[in-house]
Amino acid sequence: QQDRVFNFAAGPATLPENVLLKAQSELYNWNGSGMSVMEMSHRGKEFLSIIQKAESDLRTLLQIPSEYSVLFLQGGATTQFAALPLNLCTPQDTVDYIVTGSWGDKAVKEAQKYCNPKVIWSGKSEKYTKIPSFDDFQQNPDARYLHICANETIHGVEFKDNNYPNAKNATGILVADMSSNFCSKPVEVSKFGVIYAGAQKNVGPSGVTIVIIRKDLIGNAQSFTPVMLDYKIHDENNSLYNTPPCYGIYMCGLVFEDLLQQGGLKEVEKNNKKKAQILFDAIDESGGFYRCPVEKSVRSLMNVPFTLEKQELEGEFIKEAAKEKMVQLKGHRSVGGMRASIYNAMPLAGVEKLVAFMKDFQAKHM
Ligand code: PMP
Repeated sequence: QQDRVFNFAAGPATLPENVLLKAQSELYNWNGSGMSVMEMSHRGKEFLSIIQKAESDLRTLLQIPSEYSVLFLQGGATTQFAALPLNLCTPQDTVDYIVTGSWGDKAVKEAQKYCNPKVIWSGKSEKYTKIPSFDDFQQNPDARYLHICANETIHGVEFKDNNYPNAKNATGILVADMSSNFCSKPVEVSKFGVIYAGAQKNVGPSGVTIVIIRKDLIGNAQSFTPVMLDYKIHDENNSLYNTPPCYGIYMCGLVFEDLLQQGGLKEVEKNNKKKAQILFDAIDESGGFYRCPVEKSVRSLMNVPFTLEKQELEGEFIKEAAKEKMVQLKGHRSVGGMRASIYNAMPLAGVEKLVAFMKDFQAKHM
C-alpha cells in the first residue's frame, strides 16, 4: 500500500491493513445483507451475529472466564473514571489509587466526585517514570477497590509480565485501565474485578469502550447513577440497551479475528517485544543523543517516549520523519519530546524504518 504512512499516533492509532481492506470490501454490502453495517438495526439478526462473534472472539483471545461479563459501551475510558465509583462504591467509600501517570491522575480526580479516593502511591515527583515495588505502598484495608493504569500512554510506563499488585483490602478487587495495552499480551483476567479500555489504540476505532467485569460486582450502582453508566443495565441487555456504536464494534470484531489468526496474544506479545526492543536499543545505544526517561524495567511495549539531547533539533526530527512517511511522532504536549506509539498494528517494518531514520538523523547531527 504505497500511499499509507507509518502512523505512530497514540490513539486513534494505526489499524491492521488487512482489517481495513476487509472492512472496505464489506462496506457497501455486508455479507450479502444488501446494506452496510452502519445501516443495520442493532436488533437485527445480522448485527447480533456481529456483536456476538466479537464478544466470543475477545473471550477466546483473553481467555475470559465465564463469571465475567463483557460490555461494549460508549463514552471512552474517561466515562469509566466515573462509572467505576458509581457502580462499585457509596459516596463515603474509600478507594485506593496507584498513580503512575496522567491517566491515573485523571481517574482519581473524576472519582473524587463519587467516592473518597486515596492516592496511595504517586510517581509524579519523579515525572512518572516508575512503577512502585509492591512493598512501597500501604493499602487501606477498607478500600472498595485498588485502581491502577496498566499502561500510561503519555509517560510510557507499564506494569510488566502479568505482575500486578494484589488488592489487600476487604473486597480484594483490583481494577485496571488497560486502554493502551489492551490485547497487546496475555492477561490473567481472574486477577481483576474490572478491566476497561477504550478501543482506539489496539483494537478498533474510537467510540467503543470495552468493560470486562466480574458478574458479582454488577448491580450495586449508586441510586443517582445515570442509566448509561449502570453496568447492570448494559449487562442485562447484552450491550444493547440503547443504540450501541455498531460500526465500531464491528471493526473491533475484525481486529479480534485478525489477532486470533495471528496465533493469539502470546504471538502478538512476541512481536510487540521485538518491536519495542529494537527501538529501545536504538535509543540506549545512541550515546545519549536520544534518551528515554522511563526506568528500564517498566518501559512500555506500546508507547515509547524519548527526547533529543539537542532539544532544538526536535522540530526538524519530526519534520524530516514526516517527509519519509513516519507521522505523529510528537510527544504529548504535557511532556514534550517525541513519542512513538507502536501498538499491535504497527508492523515491524515501521519500527525498523524509524530506527534507520534515527541513526541517519544522528549521523547528520553529531
Ligand atoms: N486511559 C488511558 C490509559 C488512555 O490512554 C486514555 C486516552 N488516551 C484514556 C484513559 C482516556 O480515554 P478516552 O479518550 O477514550 O476517554
